[in-house]
Amino acid sequence: MTVMSVVVERGLARCPRCVAVADYTFVESGPNSLRYEVNCGKCGEAYCEVHTPVAPDFTAVGDALVVIPPPVPPTAFELRRRQAVAWLTAAAGRIMVRINGIRH
Ligand SMILES: [Zn+2]
Repeated sequence: MTVMSVVVERGLARCPRCVAVADYTFVESGPNSLRYEVNCGKCGEAYCEVHTPVAPDFTAVGDALVVIPPPVPPTAFELRRRQAVAWLTAAAGRIMVRINGIRH
């Protein structure tokens, strides 16, 4: 048994390479697969994209992508704020030492 390739739709689209008007076809290449083809007569580009229906783990993948934040380097302001906090912490420590020194 061979896999049937049925043209579902055909029309005009823009070539992804040279942006000229090109023929596109949607071909059903299997029970769960739809192939999008663009055949450009101008530059000879044969673009092909395979679409499959929404997979069961599609939303899980989407969530995983959302959870991972892009690495953001600290801004100059954030670095200065950290320096200030470090300086204040050190200063507070020195003050505590002095107070303890007076009491003793
Ligand atoms: Zn083209």
